[in-house]
Amino acid sequence: MAGKQNGRVADKVAIVTGAASGIGEATAICLAEQGAAISVVDIDEAGGRRAVKKIEKAGGRALFIKADVGKAAHARRMVDQTTRKFGRLDIIHNNAIWYKVAPATKLEEKDWDRTIAVGLKAVYLSAKYGIPAMLRTGGGSIVNTSSVHALASFPEHTAYDSAKAGILGLTRTLAIDYGPKIRVNAVLPGAILTPLWTRARVPAKARKQFADLVPAKRLGTSEDVAHAVLYLVSDEASFVTGTSLVVDGGMLCRTM
Ligand code: NAD
Repeated sequence: MAGKQNGRVADKVAIVTGAASGIGEATAICLAEQGAAISVVDIDEAGGRRAVKKIEKAGGRALFIKADVGKAAHARRMVDQTTRKFGRLDIIHNNAIWYKVAPATKLEEKDWDRTIAVGLKAVYLSAKYGIPAMLRTGGGSIVNTSSVHALASFPEHTAYDSAKAGILGLTRTLAIDYGPKIRVNAVLPGAILTPLWTRARVPAKARKQFADLVPAKRLGTSEDVAHAVLYLVSDEASFVTGTSLVVDGGMLCRTM
């Protein structure tokens, strides 16, 4: 992690949720490369500890916290453990997701509740416990991972699309209520090739179709999104708050 003392988030402390995999892991590594100490938060202990090892091996500082971000007690512990270990909190990247895809008449109520808990309530909970900690050392920056699904819905993504659209409203409200000391923004990834795609068994043909559809003519990488998060949490974005940054290779700029 060359030059991390002069990095864009040098000496900051960041919580990244869903950091055992995909976009969260890439963001954790990217912020660590730029000088931040990272709390890697996830329910996946093996993956989370792997991410911590990668950061430490490259000379960065990281702590694994096993937490279910949709639960209040876990969210509070995530903040407490971070401030106890690293002394402060400057950045939160709310990024974890769990979801079930089904049309409303088929979607189980418990699956709706869990999707909304992990995908939306978690953003409120991390603000509730994280913002007071950030204010104690002067303020900070929050980035919430929404999705292109917040702006254009996909079939049967009943709860997921609701959570992702809800994040945009919550992002704006938090930005208004806690500015200027806390900046709050959302990042809206398009088709990003992560382990989520493997688990969702997206076939090779569909992957190619997604890539062919967008002006960038490729699928996104976790690093594409991590770099957008890095910008939003850096001082270079000090006048950017309450808004969203689409990282989709141009997916949303065409109608079909
Ligand atoms: P991923 O499946 O690789 O990572 C998600 C992580 O969240 C996993 O490590 C998982 O263990 C963790 N997680 C699940 N439930 C949790 C809980 N209750 N508490 C803590 N951690 C939990 O997925 P990804 O593709 O990297 O997605 C990251 C974010 O990006 C998600 O919010 C997702 O909705 C969003 N997104 C992804 C894409 C894409 O194409 N991959 C597109 C748009 C938005």
